[in-house]
Amino acid sequence: MRRALIAGNWKMNCTLAEAAALAEGVVSGVAGVEDVDIVVCPTFTALETVGKIVAGTNVAMGSQDIYWEKSGAYTGEISPDMLLDVGCSYAIAGHSERRQYMAETDEVVNRKARAALAAGLKVMLCVGETLEEREAGKMEQIVERAVVGGLADISAEEIKSLSVAYEPIWAIGTGKTATPQQANEAHEFIRKVVGRLYSNEVAEALVIQYGGSVKPSNISELMAEPHLDGALVGGASLKADSFVELVKGAQG
Ligand code: PEP
Repeated sequence: MRRALIAGNWKMNCTLAEAAALAEGVVSGVAGVEDVDIVVCPTFTALETVGKIVAGTNVAMGSQDIYWEKSGAYTGEISPDMLLDVGCSYAIAGHSERRQYMAETDEVVNRKARAALAAGLKVMLCVGETLEEREAGKMEQIVERAVVGGLADISAEEIKSLSVAYEPIWAIGTGKTATPQQANEAHEFIRKVVGRLYSNEVAEALVIQYGGSVKPSNISELMAEPHLDGALVGGASLKADSFVELVKGAQG
């Protein structure tokens, strides 16, 4: 039985005071929720503050990105150990905005994922196609390449600490959600690829999140699909009320 995982990606939003207020609102709103893994991913600058607020609660914290080296001359980068130090237990790797604006390749994403896992962080590995690719009938090809590339050299043991987030780029921040059937089809395909790379057992245990304009109003129908195990949420995670409602909507 896969546990639901709902993560909020705050992206480049919130001052320190806003991040603290949002984290406090989430923590108090989801108190008592036991059957959903809940994660918030603030900006690097807010990690320490939010880490103190969520410590000891049922809300975990993740970073929006990560670097693969341990320390040294890598100006501007943050290592896995630094993230652990401020209270992160998750890291997002390969978000489409980083692939698009920072030219992250599958190889770069894989290095990030491997370093995070090796350090003991859980990873949310993002994959997804553009509208153009979907319309050209290339969804499976694009998603398969990102899954195979992103999981290179990750062991069957390590993948237990990794979830895949299927995020069709055309649905991110656009208000256009994939239909539950479209999302389920892509998730089923990802599970099939992971089954081929590892085993059926690994594929069945893999948590696959959907991301792309998830809101309190559509979470229940998405979660009703058999291959949907959670969500990675952008816009709707920036208001405590809507994120809390969404987490509750994901409860079994
Ligand atoms: C995201 O950035 O991962 C995302 C899914 O954003 P939104 O929910 O705003 O579409």
